[in-house]
Amino acid sequence: MSLKSYIEAMPKAELHVHLEGAILPETVLFLAERNKVKLPADTVEGLQKLYEFVDFPHFVTVFNMVISCLQKPEDYIDVVIRFGQEMARQHIRYAEVTWSPQSHVWRGIPFSVLLEALNEGRAKAKHSYGVELRWIPDIVRSWPDATDDFHEEAARWISSDEALAGGVVALGLGGFEVGYPPERFEVPFRLARERGLPGNPHAGETEGAASVWGAIRSLKARRIGHGVRAVEDPALVKYLAEQKIPLEVNPTSNLCLKVYPSYTEHPLKKLVEAGCIVTINSDDPPLFNTTLTDEYLHAVEDCGLTLEQLENAVLNAVRYSYLPEASKVGLVAAFEADFATLRRQHQNSLF
Ligand SMILES: [Zn+2]
Repeated sequence: MSLKSYIEAMPKAELHVHLEGAILPETVLFLAERNKVKLPADTVEGLQKLYEFVDFPHFVTVFNMVISCLQKPEDYIDVVIRFGQEMARQHIRYAEVTWSPQSHVWRGIPFSVLLEALNEGRAKAKHSYGVELRWIPDIVRSWPDATDDFHEEAARWISSDEALAGGVVALGLGGFEVGYPPERFEVPFRLARERGLPGNPHAGETEGAASVWGAIRSLKARRIGHGVRAVEDPALVKYLAEQKIPLEVNPTSNLCLKVYPSYTEHPLKKLVEAGCIVTINSDDPPLFNTTLTDEYLHAVEDCGLTLEQLENAVLNAVRYSYLPEASKVGLVAAFEADFATLRRQHQNSLF
């Protein structure tokens, strides 16, 4: 019985994970073979070597390589089923998963076909593994030569009746943050909001506090993807805490993409102690050679959170999810009961 066995067995929830970036290397190889896609590596180890990122553009190149392996509806169905299997392995009960419709639609997969396939996978994952999934499709802010119309069209797909009925709970904003400030995306986020979809953009990852302010003021962000660089502006930290705008923190992702040099220099603990609502997430786990379990372990062992602070971050992922209130209450109660059981099992070793 150890911290590791405690964290492995904890019930978990995740609010910031990209479907395309969560495809395990074995699955990437399987899809490449099925669709006759030539990859620069043909082994798990070879792929992992490619995942040693030098910077954010390098990461995007690899991300797009993975996307090129997705071609037919059955690929999407299989990817979601395998995602659900991996959730169950880590005791992740609930996840809000981002995917980028523009990346698939431009390759000839209509939005309706994509959504239907993802939802077939979602139903199968729930049936086989008991896991719950919701979707946060995002706009790729740095899409080359994109016009305003291009992004507004994506916002219309994402907030369409079929999307709202098909598990979509928010509109995301991903891609290169540098050079693509939130203010540019005010119109698509307003369109989505008018259809009842909250804004859930990435901000404050590769850009600083101004980007987080922009996400709050222009996009009315309900939650912030990353947001860690808010720490550079004390007034913003105070505002996030007071307004209870949660941050979806991804420590290992920040290290791999050189936002911070080490876990000890990562501001996770500082943000928690400043009263911000923090959740802990894995972003693109196999691409960063991590899992949600590993992120929880790093949070305690390397970033310095107490076990109580970690448990609170886990519960935050349920409390600040887009689930209906009654579902949140039920899930929080179930998590707390499991924490109590785990504490009893670990009382001689940890408490
Ligand atoms: Zn992300």
